[in-house]
Amino acid sequence: MRSPNLTTRQQIMALLREQLHSARDLAAVLSIPEREVENHLTHVMRSLGRNSQLRFMMEHAFCHRCGFLFRERSRLTRPSRCPRCRSEDIASPRFGVEGRTPKGAKVS
Ligand SMILES: [Zn+2]
Repeated sequence: MRSPNLTTRQQIMALLREQLHSARDLAAVLSIPEREVENHLTHVMRSLGRNSQLRFMMEHAFCHRCGFLFRERSRLTRPSRCPRCRSEDIASPRFGVEGRTPKGAKVS
């Protein structure tokens, strides 16, 4: 379901603010190739680096079999195989956008 009033990137931002999504989820929702989603996510991540209100979140991919966490991985799509146990049952990395705590605000 695509809204004609928003750009793809704006739609991705809106989706990421609601909850965590993998690149594959976003590709399915927006009916665009996963590689295109990855491209948009890279830009979103870069632009949010300079944003004082919002923060880009990334949940690392992990292996379902042995629990290996792909901490070092910078690519946004799912790794094909676990380097530790060789399993191909890998959970996709997921992304989200959340508000930053404003400077000087009291944490309740
Ligand atoms: Zn593994």
